[in-house]
Amino acid sequence: MAAQVLAEAGRAVTVYDRMPSVGRKLLMAGRGGLNLTHSEDLATFMPRYGAEAARLAPLVDAFPPAALIAWAEGLGQETFVGSSGRVFPKALKASPLLRAWLARLRELGVEIRTRHDWAGWDAKGALRFRTPDGEITAGSDATILALGGASWPKLGSTGDWADLLAAQGVRVTPLKPANAGFDVAWSEIVRERFAGQPLKGVAVTFGRVRVRGEAMVTRHGLEGGAIYALSAGLRSTIEREGSARVWIDLRPDARVEELAARIGRQPVDQSAANRLRKALDLSPLETNLLREAHGKDLPADPAALAAAIKGAPLTLTGMRPLARAISTAGGVEFGGLDAQLMLTARPGVFVAGEMLDWEAPTGGYLLQACFATGVAAARGVLGRLGGQAGG
Ligand SMILES: Cc1cc2nc3c(=O)[nH]c(=O)nc-3n(C[C@H](O)[C@H](O)[C@H](O)COP(=O)(O)OP(=O)(O)OC[C@H]3O[C@@H](n4cnc5c(N)ncnc54)[C@H](O)[C@@H]3O)c2cc1C
Repeated sequence: MAAQVLAEAGRAVTVYDRMPSVGRKLLMAGRGGLNLTHSEDLATFMPRYGAEAARLAPLVDAFPPAALIAWAEGLGQETFVGSSGRVFPKALKASPLLRAWLARLRELGVEIRTRHDWAGWDAKGALRFRTPDGEITAGSDATILALGGASWPKLGSTGDWADLLAAQGVRVTPLKPANAGFDVAWSEIVRERFAGQPLKGVAVTFGRVRVRGEAMVTRHGLEGGAIYALSAGLRSTIEREGSARVWIDLRPDARVEELAARIGRQPVDQSAANRLRKALDLSPLETNLLREAHGKDLPADPAALAAAIKGAPLTLTGMRPLARAISTAGGVEFGGLDAQLMLTARPGVFVAGEMLDWEAPTGGYLLQACFATGVAAARGVLGRLGGQAGG
């Protein structure tokens, strides 16, 4: 995105990537439909960035969701708003968008050099790259680092820039998983029978925050949108206290009295599983989840059983590793950057994307902030280079 903004302003741009091809993580994001952004208004949108919302607000204001949608559509990728308000390309994958984008960049004269692994600066301030033909250096009027976080390292982003930048006096908050699953000590039966099955339309409560959505049972524990939305708070509680407790409401649209009345209409001589299935269409996974949470012998009393359905406590004992997370928390601290995202420790070097220290839940907020910071960094470069000719 930064390359496009610079090239459209007439600058000569070279993009270096260590991988044999660019955009691998974007393609991976495309596997889930490529949730580009979200259609909610900015007053609702911005608080998703939590502590960094104020820092990101002017940048997202300058390249808001509408601009991102216009950009995708300008590349021939029509978009639509899904039922949850999330915005996707109609193709529901990244490859057509990436193809059209690379063609546009080529037309603009952007050079892309793959298999160039950035390794810092030499003594004269030139960029160093390891390539299959040995190390090379390259000078530039300005540099934008957009090296990603550290999830899915085999796609290219490993976070190894953190040490390189720290050695330059840049403050980097330790990289941690965001939007990742959590460990639950499931019984054998849940692990073996139900891993891979979703809990749809549930509400998950952690502390005072309640999130509606989907949670997926995995062999290790739980993942999915409703869990990711709580992941920043869960992560810090687990770091501090060793575990965190969430409450699952399996029937968030029904009041407890309603549930109790429906259960009460079932004959008591049936098993709890049968009463729950007939009264409330509870699936075998849901009934087993209640047993994990409340103990093997579920209460017979309808009111108690209804209360158990409205609040099933689960203890999360750890977070899944960063390598399998959707995104990365931590990164280059905003305090070491000017308003245009230039490193104060290295004038002329700008930073954009997931390597900055912000985090957000899934829902399109990740790509939106990556693109908006890319635009901001490019505009920062243009401002710095001012009237200078050339690139
Ligand atoms: C499974 C999955 C699904 C996702 N789905 C969505 C989604 O639907 N919506 C959403 O908003 N977000 C989604 N994301 C997150 C989103 O893809 C990332 O936040 C985004 O791609 C980050 O963009 P970036 O440009 O900052 O970094 P990246 O996309 O990681 O790109 C960084 C690039 O830098 C290169 N690089 C790194 N280090 C070096 C080096 N030293 N030298 C040279 N090159 C280097 C890498 O090879 C890579 O190409 C998903 C992520 C995953 C893993």
